[in-house]
Amino acid sequence: MMPGLIGVLAFAAPCVDGDLVTMRVVREAMGTEFEILLCGRDEQSLVNAANEALDEVQDLDQQMSLYNARSELSSINRRSAAERVAVEPKLFSLLELAGEITDASRGAFDITVAPLVKCWGFFRGQGRVPPADTIAAALQSVGMRHVELCRRDRTVHFRRADVRLDLGGVAKGYAVDRAVEVLRGLGITRALVHGGQSSIYALGAPPDQASWTVGIRHPLEASRRIAVVHLRDRALSTSGNYEKFFEADGKLYSHIIDPRTGYPATGMLSASALGPTAAETDALATAFFVMGQAKTRQYCAAHPHIQAVLVAEVESGESLRLVRIGEKLPSREFLKEESSRTERSQ
Ligand code: ADP
Ligand code: MG
Repeated sequence: MMPGLIGVLAFAAPCVDGDLVTMRVVREAMGTEFEILLCGRDEQSLVNAANEALDEVQDLDQQMSLYNARSELSSINRRSAAERVAVEPKLFSLLELAGEITDASRGAFDITVAPLVKCWGFFRGQGRVPPADTIAAALQSVGMRHVELCRRDRTVHFRRADVRLDLGGVAKGYAVDRAVEVLRGLGITRALVHGGQSSIYALGAPPDQASWTVGIRHPLEASRRIAVVHLRDRALSTSGNYEKFFEADGKLYSHIIDPRTGYPATGMLSASALGPTAAETDALATAFFVMGQAKTRQYCAAHPHIQAVLVAEVESGESLRLVRIGEKLPSREFLKEESSRTERSQ
């Protein structure tokens, strides 16, 4: 099989090896496509396992979507200012993880960003630059300090009436982890699971190989890779300004917003994070996009299980530069820069 190059992330599918076969199952969920590539002995049981994992992803979409008024997240958003709302245990743990990453990133990642996402027109709207006072008003309700998470009874409570949670920066990675959990439970030992090509988890390795090979998309050209990473029981997520953006007065505004300023993050073309779970790397890719190079370096120095690959914005005609952050990449997870300097094409 030819190596597949798919959007942000790409993977090389292994060949049929002895009596092992590789199956690929795709399903639409969370406004994108989830895809599972898995190896084993029996085609039908592989397809069944992938479908069970994808059912889980669809259930999570129902639970966490802001576009579905009946989702648990929509209900939390509607009710939590008036009362303490009980949260399903795993979703509660995800909210706690999100809160921890907010602290660790000093507010660069913050799921209370929803009112800003809305005022910039990235939720159901047309992207536009809002008036400064609209941004300032939305900013008032942003901040995890307005959210009380009570671990004892797993409830959430908003300290302000206008707080709204948006899990868009972490949900796909979390769903990838949960799909992997299902696969593991069904005895699958070799698989790749990705959500919308922005978060991927590599379970085990292909037959006769030490790790899965995954490409990071070139931020300016969808069909090129800027780097290749080798993953085994590890996750990778990429956030890029090419995902969702609008242009106004010759300026590009990305859907990743700095929750501290209220304005779309600037300075980065893409930010990738490597780590043990896709929920964590998804949130961190978003955080690193906001934080930029120096702060990401500090983060990775304090969290040695995390690595990052950043591509900063450059002037037209300048070469792109890939910045690799994080020491101690285990030898089986080494990161090879396919081309450390690649020409900007426009
Ligand atoms: P993608 O969805 O392309 O994988 P991200 O994981 O970076 O990209 O998520 C971006 C989404 O996360 C936005 O569409 C928005 O819903 C939400 N978001 C935007 N800025 C932030 C932020 N600073 N912290 C947390 N979530 C954010
Ligand atoms: Mg993210």
